[in-house]
Amino acid sequence: MTIDLRALAQNYQTLKNQLSTGKLAAVVKANAYGLGVKEAALTLDKAGCETFFVATLEEGIELRHILPATNIHIFHGVLPGTASELVAHNLVPILNSVDQIEEWRPKAEHTAGLHIDSGMSRLGLTPAECENEVDRLKGINIDLVMSHLACAEEPANPKNQEQLALFNGLKSLIPADQASLAASSGIFLGPDFQFDLSRAGVALYGVNPMPGRSNPMAQVIRLQAKILQVRSVDTPQTVGYGATHQATKPAKIATLGVGYADGYLRSLSNTGTAYIDDYEVPVVGRVSMDLTTVDVTDVPDALLQTGRLVDLIGPHNPVDQVAAQAGTIGYEILTSLGQRYERRYISDGPSRA
Ligand SMILES: *Cc1c(COP(=O)(O)O)cnc(C)c1O
Repeated sequence: MTIDLRALAQNYQTLKNQLSTGKLAAVVKANAYGLGVKEAALTLDKAGCETFFVATLEEGIELRHILPATNIHIFHGVLPGTASELVAHNLVPILNSVDQIEEWRPKAEHTAGLHIDSGMSRLGLTPAECENEVDRLKGINIDLVMSHLACAEEPANPKNQEQLALFNGLKSLIPADQASLAASSGIFLGPDFQFDLSRAGVALYGVNPMPGRSNPMAQVIRLQAKILQVRSVDTPQTVGYGATHQATKPAKIATLGVGYADGYLRSLSNTGTAYIDDYEVPVVGRVSMDLTTVDVTDVPDALLQTGRLVDLIGPHNPVDQVAAQAGTIGYEILTSLGQRYERRYISDGPSRA
């Protein structure tokens, strides 16, 4: 797995240039969507990012060791008994409920964010709670009021305007320095959605924030598997578990050393496409735990040596395409990327490994 940190920095700039107002924060939860939080966070910090978001306290502590002085917000907020630990690591919880507000009260002099639910029904104060419980926020130092969009990747969806109107109304009830609504796709809904801080995640890592339109983001990752063996098959031979692929004519099958245990999803069985140079090689048979089989009949033997690298995600098959073939979204492809891959980082600057 090759991770181009120059593309990551470029994507930070591209998103920043898209902003008419406010700053750009980076979301580096889930090990920076599978890319490696240390390298990603250092690159984004160097690119000028001043505010980071992660999901959990543990992710916050890890990031605090990487970036001792930056602003780190915790989406999951304050769970019972964790307020002291958040303070000790200088982490800012996003308070998600009345209970969390009370949990934070003993630490009220330290800043916290507040999540208000404008239409996701997951986390955050409900609109009614914003109106009725606002007095509870007295004495609590709220630096950021935020909400999250349900349908931002569909610009024409009326839900976007509904959530925007609700957010504008509710945030006026809450005294806070900054407001934040947009994630990656929300940034492209325009200035009204950008407020003081946009929270970009997936687009930084190369996934298209505007499905259906051309992708403005640079591709950050390339994923390659090694050829372990090539063999010839002919009908009636079958390939893999369940015998779901059968040769109908003489063919060559290459077995690659990657499987669903590496996050190469089983749903790519008989539907994925890999590439050897410019040759498209379809996945045939089921993806198994550690092995995947591709039809290389049309590929010259000179390109089929054992150990040769085959693109599973690369210039011809970007993350979004692999996701579509797997019946999922780029987020899931990235965050499923397994631990067995060797992660190689490309950067301009001095190596900080
Ligand atoms: C994950 C997350 C983000 C980042 O979303 P992307 O679509 O990856 O840009 C922003 N805000 C919240 C609340 C999140 O959970």
